[in-house]
Amino acid sequence: MAYIKDGVGIIGVNALHHPNRQRFSAAHELAHHILHATEISQAVHVDKGIRVLFRDNVSALGTDPMEIDANAFASELLIPGYLLADALEGGGVDLEDESAIEVLARRFRVSTAAMRFRLASL
Ligand SMILES: [Zn+2]
Repeated sequence: MAYIKDGVGIIGVNALHHPNRQRFSAAHELAHHILHATEISQAVHVDKGIRVLFRDNVSALGTDPMEIDANAFASELLIPGYLLADALEGGGVDLEDESAIEVLARRFRVSTAAMRFRLASL
């Protein structure tokens, strides 16, 4: 969740989730603070199922522009393009190569779904 109350920003993540998921959620909520401060000052913004958004590339695109922007922000924050390019050593990766995606995901401490989404978005 993301909320701004009396000028103080608040981000909440589920401590029971995997650390990688918590990192993505925190980055996603940070995006709402930066990009959607007006909206989250008026009401608590609760995200349910960010993980669900990444089950496949179609749903990852979402339909709510705020969520699309927050996911893109979080993805770029946690997997900066220049660092990903370094990791790929000028090459690419086969999006069907699960082991290669797992190696990259571990390196950037994100889920394989988040890594696949980032790779597909480049
Ligand atoms: Zn959101």
